Amino acid sequence: MKKELIDPFNRKIEYVRVSVTDKCNYRCGYCMPEQGVHPEGMHTEYLSYDELARIIQAFVNLGVSKIRLTGGEPLVRKNLAGFVKQINAFEGLEDIALSTNAHHLAREAQALKEAGLNRVNISIDSLKAERFNKITRGGDLVKVLVGVDKALEVGLNPVKFNMVVMRGTNDDEIEAMVDYGLEKGVEVRFIETMPIGPAGISMMDQHYAADKILARIKKHVGSDLIPSTGRTHDGPSRNYTIAGTQTRIGVISAVSQHFCESCNRVRLTARGVLALCLGQEDAVDLRTPLRQGISDAELQQMIVQAIAKKPERHFFNENVHNIEFRQMVQLGG
Ligand code: SAM
Ligand code: SF4
Repeated sequence: MKKELIDPFNRKIEYVRVSVTDKCNYRCGYCMPEQGVHPEGMHTEYLSYDELARIIQAFVNLGVSKIRLTGGEPLVRKNLAGFVKQINAFEGLEDIALSTNAHHLAREAQALKEAGLNRVNISIDSLKAERFNKITRGGDLVKVLVGVDKALEVGLNPVKFNMVVMRGTNDDEIEAMVDYGLEKGVEVRFIETMPIGPAGISMMDQHYAADKILARIKKHVGSDLIPSTGRTHDGPSRNYTIAGTQTRIGVISAVSQHFCESCNRVRLTARGVLALCLGQEDAVDLRTPLRQGISDAELQQMIVQAIAKKPERHFFNENVHNIEFRQMVQLGG
């Protein structure tokens, strides 16, 4: 019988977000401090691809079927396609996904697809080049849009867009993003700013609630938004199909409406820490025991014990200070 990882609240953990680096070529204000994170970080602090693969294999043996590679920016780490190929060989791993800012995607998409990558989420917070550059502190919208087209051309499926909506910064582009999604046949997911790390917390005065986003979209498309039913792969995302089209939109409302009861995931940081909840401190260091030579069976046991400590929910609204020291760029979004 296929194994299952079940947490104390009867949630099936079938999805691991794996950060391959906490470095990034962009500096989005809600995610990264301007100077980046840990510029002094030693190379050996990061798990090698072999170490990451060993942990992923342990999760797959325990019943996890989906891995999302994230960061920082995963495409700044060399030979990501080689790593995708390595883990794609694991029997039982059904789905490999990527979250990226797409700056390097045009260059990498073909190799990633051939290596076994299935799907990609691309962050785009503005379709205005100058504004995009400002939000990302240096990003190049043209490169990103070429990356989008390349991802679609090589057949990564689905491609999704993620837009963090910020009041007074880009909220006037909600409708334009819907139109861009419709033009490309791509689902757009609108994300509420989350108070994670000093960067996220500093942006909470620009928080824009998901229900307002939905109302704007409904008015713009002039037709109903039909709530999706059944499995969506998305866990926290509330999804809708725009009536009369095949295009879906989603909202991720971590703050105005928490989604913890459907949480099906844990996060592995690039330094080998297993973070059990985006909004709580609960975490287990896997790097130290891994480098001390634990067996595969012991590694699996550690993971099972860690999942038993997964908190019921985050407390974004109640105790923001708890998560002040953590940075989204390290947790992988
Ligand atoms: N660099 C890649 C990217 O931007 O897609 C992957 C890593 S990034 C940390 C993953 C996701 O987290 C992105 O969609 C980003 O917009 C989102 N994110 C980062 N900080 C956030 C915050 N404070 N609130 C909401 N979403 C955030
Ligand atoms: Fe980099 Fe992604 Fe964070 Fe932006 S959201 S700074 S692209 S890791």
